Amino acid sequence: ERVYRVSASSVGHGTDLFVLVFKDQSEARRIDRMRADFIANASHELRTPLASISGFIETLRGPARNDPAAREQFLQIMQNQTSRMARLIDDLLSLSRLEMKPYLKAGARVDLRQTLESVIDSLGPLARDSNLVVERDFAEGQFAVPGDRDELFQVFENLLENACKYGQSGGRVSVSVAPGGTVAEPTVDVTIRDFGPGIPEEHIPRITERFYRVDVETSRAQKGTGLGLSIVKHILTRHNARMSIRSELGKGAAFTVHLPAN
Ligand code: ADP
Repeated sequence: ERVYRVSASSVGHGTDLFVLVFKDQSEARRIDRMRADFIANASHELRTPLASISGFIETLRGPARNDPAAREQFLQIMQNQTSRMARLIDDLLSLSRLEMKPYLKAGARVDLRQTLESVIDSLGPLARDSNLVVERDFAEGQFAVPGDRDELFQVFENLLENACKYGQSGGRVSVSVAPGGTVAEPTVDVTIRDFGPGIPEEHIPRITERFYRVDVETSRAQKGTGLGLSIVKHILTRHNARMSIRSELGKGAAFTVHLPAN
């Protein structure tokens, strides 16, 4: 479906000559639709925990009023639901901040080795709680790429967090960095791999869409918002970087980020 806006203006006086201007509006329509979908999804995601909190308030005022054990349990659920809303709002703010500053600061370079070490450190507790060993496979040399340190930290943190959450059964996760690309277009490639259940092939092309989840229940249980990989995609686009995703069912998933070296 293509929609064109056509405007006509008369050229000169007393002539039948018109200039027709065709402007493709299907792209604008698509973006409007995406925005509306996004708002509907975000509202739904926020409404669900809110409805649960509201329900428990009712119960606490009524049937559970004099039951200390039930009260404690319901307050705990309400606290979990508020944390879930807070995570969602943080992710929504991250996305909107990224949209508001579409260009990267020029000139800054990021030391990937050091960035990956701090990501691994910051997820140490999650890996330990999940009984996962984090393996490093860092090639020799310095890996500095143009980019924003905080944003790339967020990319690797999201990917490693997913590897720990969804690949927990694999017992280990690995982080590697190595030179890649071609002589004309060299890249630095960072791969975050897990050895869990993997991702069914048909889901892979859609997995970076906002709110897309292979299994909503698992994502919720893992404190997911469905926005992590869309934030990753946004940041990588700003860095002119690509991401490739490979997965074999039952054997795990590997996310490789190809960052331009220059
Ligand atoms: P979430 O907040 O749900 O984790 P993401 O955008 O980070 O959202 O990921 C989207 C979905 O992709 C997840 O809900 C999960 O179904 C799937 N996924 C992401 N990483 C992995 C992985 N390493 N192994 C299996 N599934 C994954």
